[in-house]
Amino acid sequence: MSADAGEASADAEDLYVRLKVYEGRAAATSGVGKDLVNEPMIRHWCEAMGDTNAAYAGPDAIAPPTMLQAWTMGGLSGHSDRSGAHDELFALLDGAGYTSVVATDCEQEYLRPLRPGNRITFDAVIESVSPRKTTRLGTGHFVTTRMDVRADGELAGTHRFRILKYTPAATYARTVAHPPADTHPRADTHPPAVAAKQKPRRPRPVINRDNAGFWDGVARHQLLIQRCGACGTLRFPWLPGCGGCGSAEWDTVEAGGEGTVHSYVVMHHPPFPAFDPPYAVGLIELAEGVRMVSNVVGVPYDKVRIGMPVRLEFQRVDEDLELPVFRSLEESTG
Ligand code: ZN
Repeated sequence: MSADAGEASADAEDLYVRLKVYEGRAAATSGVGKDLVNEPMIRHWCEAMGDTNAAYAGPDAIAPPTMLQAWTMGGLSGHSDRSGAHDELFALLDGAGYTSVVATDCEQEYLRPLRPGNRITFDAVIESVSPRKTTRLGTGHFVTTRMDVRADGELAGTHRFRILKYTPAATYARTVAHPPADTHPRADTHPPAVAAKQKPRRPRPVINRDNAGFWDGVARHQLLIQRCGACGTLRFPWLPGCGGCGSAEWDTVEAGGEGTVHSYVVMHHPPFPAFDPPYAVGLIELAEGVRMVSNVVGVPYDKVRIGMPVRLEFQRVDEDLELPVFRSLEESTG
């Protein structure tokens, strides 16, 4: 181990000691649900989930246990009860270069049913901070927060929520000239500030055995649509089976590239570092009849309109990402 690596390792140890201090400290205290447990929220939840269980309707209705967290949510305006400890812990992690965050999992425990009229109160505690871990996403620390939810003062359930605060591996890797192929990028051997100056790259597509053929097509500048081997129905995005007849047999047809904007949204918020809002995200209806989400290019975001004719092209985003996008066929008149 080099002297530098030894120092970095000692720094990491020191940080972990400082992070551990936050275990057991309050993340939120004396929170109060914004609404009493109520029938309309229960009904909306059940409709959204497609849950028709009779226990959640009628005069003796209880709330679905999985709604536990819903009663504690602060909505857009938030709660004002978050403790300083939570912010301090995150600031400590941010300062050490672990600036990204991803929710990894949650666990709930149900101790008694919640009924309309119950008043919800809650407290949250920082339950644990893990040693430094390297994951496929990057290197960082897992932080587990436990919320105790009470109904009319009686403990009704707990909600554990785990996040990873990390330095992204991909962003970091670009700052290293030729990292050895068999080592993980290590956040502790280079200052994260170097990584932070680079504009993050666009998210990578998740390629798996169900959609690999699509991305193989993109690499050859072909937009491939799946066609059911039994009933001939075209489908997009790629799926292992036919939504019409259930058959797992399929082949592909290549899209001709003509389409129209079926619908679109303009993204203003939330900002993602790899994108420059505002930008339009289009739902493109291909001439073959299937629809796909993509970018509309060659026209300002505020000139995209429903029905606009577009044509497929392939856009190189960076050295190892190429995406199918759609160019407006209308002259941009400003
Ligand atoms: Zn079919």
